[in-house]
Amino acid sequence: MAESGSDFDVVVVGGGAAGAAAARRLHDASIRCLIVEARSRLGGRAWTVTDASGFTLDLGCGWLHSADRNPWVAVAEAQGAAIDKTAPPWMRPAIEQGFSRTEQTEFGRAMMSFFARLEDAAQNPADMPGAAVLDPASRWNGLINAVSTYISGAEWDLVSVRDFDRFEDSGINWRIVEGFGTVISKHGADLPVTLDCQVRNIDHSGRRLRIETSKGAIAADQVIVTVSSALLAAERIRFTPALPAKTAAAAGLPLGLADKLFMSLEGAEEFEKDVRLFGHTDRAGTGGYHFRPFGRPLIEAYFGGTQAHALEAGGDEAFFDFAVAELTGVLGNDFAKRIKPIRVHRWGDDPFALGSYSYAKPGSADCRATLAAPVDGRLFFAGEACSAHDFSTAHGGWHTGVAAAEQVIAARRASGTLG
Ligand SMILES: Cc1cc2nc3c(=O)[nH]c(=O)nc-3n(C[C@H](O)[C@H](O)[C@H](O)COP(=O)(O)OP(=O)(O)OC[C@H]3O[C@@H](n4cnc5c(N)ncnc54)[C@H](O)[C@@H]3O)c2cc1C
Repeated sequence: MAESGSDFDVVVVGGGAAGAAAARRLHDASIRCLIVEARSRLGGRAWTVTDASGFTLDLGCGWLHSADRNPWVAVAEAQGAAIDKTAPPWMRPAIEQGFSRTEQTEFGRAMMSFFARLEDAAQNPADMPGAAVLDPASRWNGLINAVSTYISGAEWDLVSVRDFDRFEDSGINWRIVEGFGTVISKHGADLPVTLDCQVRNIDHSGRRLRIETSKGAIAADQVIVTVSSALLAAERIRFTPALPAKTAAAAGLPLGLADKLFMSLEGAEEFEKDVRLFGHTDRAGTGGYHFRPFGRPLIEAYFGGTQAHALEAGGDEAFFDFAVAELTGVLGNDFAKRIKPIRVHRWGDDPFALGSYSYAKPGSADCRATLAAPVDGRLFFAGEACSAHDFSTAHGGWHTGVAAAEQVIAARRASGTLG
């Protein structure tokens, strides 16, 4: 329990992917560290819940992207979790109702040539939004924008081409049967943690840092701040003295919005395992419906960007109503009787996230390096938005957390406080 007067070498603010990875590295280096987490659980934007049938549902991250080089794979395996290597729905043919195989091929080609134009545009000295390289004559621009809302949580008119091009993806995507959130929260669970404790201000004006929280103040030599870029931009944590360069960098890296809705599906065997259906193929405001994830009788619906904002404004029921309207539109009215809502989480309304994952505004790609830069050898920053090439992901969180921990270790060695 962190109470007034508590004293640690290092405080890690936030116990998500970055915070758990950072604290684990510090702990292994025999540095006395404490994770201070505002929620009543670890994991942050990684969150697994279990439904009434006992199925694990990842309300946040679910995919081990770039799985062949993703550090969470080894963590999951060490915990004894099972890795599912089934190809993801976006890399296999979609359900053909409303989207014939010929149309799917055409869309695939349009998407590939759009990505090729993005890559070329990224070499341009001036950054630009992804929408600048849409082909005005293409019939697939709506769906290409929908894909952006799933990848970045925002339509292409908001997303920097330079930043998007820096993202590295090996194309290998796996999942964890017990849940990605389960693994990430377990990674920090046996470390010193204070839950339900909100950091409000970090005073770095004195010889030691004073971390002011809802449960009192903690003194430390160094701090690693891992909260989302949206929270930093909104100054939900303040610094004394203020750090305007950090606030500005965070504002260049807003969180896009993507939300999942899980539904039960009766007569699921009619559909192949792990296949996708789009609610519409002619617009950005449509859900991606993943049928039978892990072969389970469920649908995992994904909504992003402007559409997700509109649904959040309507409350949890709006998600299910929208899904029913889209799915019956493609599969017929009787389909409504086969689905029931299980769970949704509104990440935009979540006060300790304020969104789903970061993208860079056009002209702001270099904000990631500014956000990640340490201040004064005492304040360190981590979290997916700080990652140059793995941003928006849980493995980006891991890498930035470990990098910040290594910086702390180097600073302590340099000052003689670590042998
Ligand atoms: C719907 C959705 C789907 C996703 N899908 C994938 C996917 O398939 N694959 C993938 O790799 N990634 C995915 N992501 C992204 C991934 O979940 C995040 O990039 C990653 O979890 C971020 O980790 P983090 O440690 O940087 O931040 P966070 O997880 O946000 O951790 C920061 C922590 O700080 C805490 N905090 C906030 N304010 C305070 C405060 N004042 N005081 C103390 N603590 C505070 C928060 O509660 C949180 O626990 C998805 C995210 C969402 C929302």
